[in-house]
Amino acid sequence: MNINFSKQELAFQTEVREFLQDYNDIDGFLSQGPVWPQVRAMFSAMGERNWLALTWPEEYGGMGKGHSYEYILWNEVAYARAARNPLSSGVVAKSIMRYGSDEQKQTFLPKIRTGEVHFSLCYSEPEAGSDLAGLRTKAQLNDAGTHYVLNGQKCWQSYAQDMDFLWILARTGKQEDRGRGLSLFICDKQTAGITVSPLPTVDDDQLNEVFFDNVEVPVAQRVGPENGAWAIIGEALADERHIQFPPGRVRRDLEEMVDWLNAQGLGDDPVIRERMAHLVSKVMEAEILGLRVLEAMEKGRNATVDAAMNKIVHTLTCQDIPRMVLDYGGPEALVNGYRPEQIWRQSIMETIGGGTSEIMRSVVSRQALGLKG
Ligand SMILES: Cc1cc2nc3c(=O)[nH]c(=O)nc-3n(C[C@H](O)[C@H](O)[C@H](O)COP(=O)(O)OP(=O)(O)OC[C@H]3O[C@@H](n4cnc5c(N)ncnc54)[C@H](O)[C@@H]3O)c2cc1C
Repeated sequence: MNINFSKQELAFQTEVREFLQDYNDIDGFLSQGPVWPQVRAMFSAMGERNWLALTWPEEYGGMGKGHSYEYILWNEVAYARAARNPLSSGVVAKSIMRYGSDEQKQTFLPKIRTGEVHFSLCYSEPEAGSDLAGLRTKAQLNDAGTHYVLNGQKCWQSYAQDMDFLWILARTGKQEDRGRGLSLFICDKQTAGITVSPLPTVDDDQLNEVFFDNVEVPVAQRVGPENGAWAIIGEALADERHIQFPPGRVRRDLEEMVDWLNAQGLGDDPVIRERMAHLVSKVMEAEILGLRVLEAMEKGRNATVDAAMNKIVHTLTCQDIPRMVLDYGGPEALVNGYRPEQIWRQSIMETIGGGTSEIMRSVVSRQALGLKG
């Protein structure tokens, strides 16, 4: 692997760091709902600089830059704890560019680019998370052929309580068609028949359930061909692999926890120092794997296996860092709302969202090692 950022890329990194000085106290990477107004304002300020469209082609108002710019931006934003990368300007916008109608492009791309509208991804269901191709939310075309009528339930939707639009994966074909029977829809969250209901999470934050009760979605709001969603969501996922688990997050976790242990006067304890040294090597491993994903994407290689390895190491490191502090930090480390236990509770969910560790290990064992099963 040989990744050296160019002078221009390093200058961009400096610009991003300067920009983030105004947003250092948001804490929007670790928590979702409570700080959304501040995160939204930051995305608007990014939109003014066109940073939500760094890699978009110029014909859609983008800057036409390489993946490295997105990597630098969202890695710095993760280190600053400011926010997660918005799925609207990635998954949603890039799918609309590839598969959307002219009307969808004209309606949504300018507003996404400026940070004016935001989407929540409605994929998972109570019985369809890892096995997404088994989802059951139904989209039935009406007799007049003008609207689809959606019925069913989604769960675990990030940010759905605050977003303007839903990006919905629903069944238009037969259940036995699995992934070949699914279509994608854009739906205004205010449409009659949609209920968003909070699912409190272990870190005092919120995911959501989303219910569809005879929700009418115009045919013009289907993205891509009927029953053609599987390829679209696969391509969109591939586009985002370099920014999904940015190592800046674990680097910041480690620095914060080391500062915390030093403040407790525990930094010189040889047992703790030994554990810290181990964690430093884990963070470096996550950084190297993050860069491997970027390198694969920049060279046009399939990054699926690199991204799976990165996710396993990154998310387990997210857990190992605060666990070390809980093990050795004494009662103070366990106080509700103090940083160590707060980071610990948040880290528990990281190995699940975006595909569980077991699924990631299956990807590595099949695709990198050629194992069957
Ligand atoms: C923080 C967070 C944010 C999320 N955000 C969103 C969102 O915005 N939109 C959205 O649609 N979804 C979202 N999700 C849902 C997420 O995609 C699913 O939780 C995830 O895919 C796992 O699905 P599941 O919860 O149904 O677990 P299941 O698939 O039921 O898995 C249960 C257990 O069985 C194991 N397992 C399942 N299948 C296999 C297998 N084939 N081999 C080995 N082990 C297996 C799993 O690893 C896991 O340990 C989010 C989840 C989290 C935690």
